[in-house]
Amino acid sequence: MAELVSHPDEVRIVSRRFGQGATNIDRYLELEGYKAVQKALTMQPEAIINEVKNSGLRGRGGAGFNTGLKWSFVPKQSAKPKYILCNGDESEPGTCKDRLIFEQDPHSVIEGVIIAGLAVGAHVGYIYIRGEYRYLSEIMLRAIGDAYARGLLGKNIFGSGYNFDIYWHGGAGAYEVGEESALMESLEGKRGVPRIRPPFPAVVGLWGGPTVINNAETLASVPPIILQGAEWYAHLGTPKNGGTRLFCLAGHVAKPGVYELPMGYNLRKMIYDVGGGIPNGRKLKAVVPGGSSCPLLTAEEIDVPMDFDSLMKIGSMLGSGGVVIVDDATCMVKFALRIMKFYQHESCGWCIPCREGTDWLKKTLTRFHLGAGLRKDIDNIQYLSENMLGRTFCPLGDAAALPTISIVKKFRTEFEDHLDGRPCPFLKSGAIVELPVLA
Ligand code: SF4
Repeated sequence: MAELVSHPDEVRIVSRRFGQGATNIDRYLELEGYKAVQKALTMQPEAIINEVKNSGLRGRGGAGFNTGLKWSFVPKQSAKPKYILCNGDESEPGTCKDRLIFEQDPHSVIEGVIIAGLAVGAHVGYIYIRGEYRYLSEIMLRAIGDAYARGLLGKNIFGSGYNFDIYWHGGAGAYEVGEESALMESLEGKRGVPRIRPPFPAVVGLWGGPTVINNAETLASVPPIILQGAEWYAHLGTPKNGGTRLFCLAGHVAKPGVYELPMGYNLRKMIYDVGGGIPNGRKLKAVVPGGSSCPLLTAEEIDVPMDFDSLMKIGSMLGSGGVVIVDDATCMVKFALRIMKFYQHESCGWCIPCREGTDWLKKTLTRFHLGAGLRKDIDNIQYLSENMLGRTFCPLGDAAALPTISIVKKFRTEFEDHLDGRPCPFLKSGAIVELPVLA
């Protein structure tokens, strides 16, 4: 079980039942459980969609698209069945908040899936959980089973005449499957590679039927919106960025953990007040504001509200809420290499800019790390990364390029420090090294 943290600035909406024993369905029902589904059953589908749209809830998986608007794209009439798909394939390095929701409050996800179903007229939902989260499957499967046993899932839920079924599905451990069309391929039993779009999933999705795909935190945010209203939720955050967010504070910070804070919370306060600052007397060097695929911020850029629009304005992204703090003892070349190793490993190899680009970047960064970098390669790293942007089928190419570009631009002197046979100061002495060949 994850250790829970808390801070007085937290506004607990999604995490309000964490640590309350809410995996037990009786306890969940005591804590207002399934009340939002009961209310949604009395609402018109358009009213549910409008409530979610006006709340300013934006996708918590990273894209930040307005959730209600996404639901409104599902056609009212469809010859094929419609589906709700919960994306619990949380794989972005630095992000670990959906894991807590599954572990602490699985019924809130089930409620969100049912309400999304009522909004778009779907009768089947899937909860797709990351392969490495298999240990949470028992909790999720028990929650689904308990909901069926109480008549909250299945035929005629709450005696309403509405039928809704939910299935659990475990992934096989591929980062790329977090992309929604790759997730659908995987769920259909195929290799998890992205689909060419359009058509978009809202129109042609799972097994060709209209499909709503939302991240687990997004869906867990829906029941409180239905119960307390769009206006209440919208006012918790900033304009166009309603509500709260589970921020995963990690790296070189004194009090790491998952904190639920209002959208727009100041990043400096998050690091120094909530996270207790940088340990061991070190100074802040950089911040990954929303998972490893986001452009990094320097220590001078942290007076920023943590919402989608504010981070975009300064050239970064809120992403999946994984806030990684980097202290001044860290070598940024090594940091860039670590990120690139991950993306090179996870590339499915379908498109050339991603397959060849991540491999070439990994090799070049490795050469810098070993003290064999060439001055011209500093620009080459940036040039190649910029040429990957927007030229790949799925966002993995961008995810590899964006942090790399920001590191070269903002920490160029550290690359220069690795020239002329000067290896990384963190290279283990005596390590057997083989210089990668740049073909
Ligand atoms: Fe595969 Fe990378 Fe292309 Fe995505 S960007 S489809 S992971 S090769």
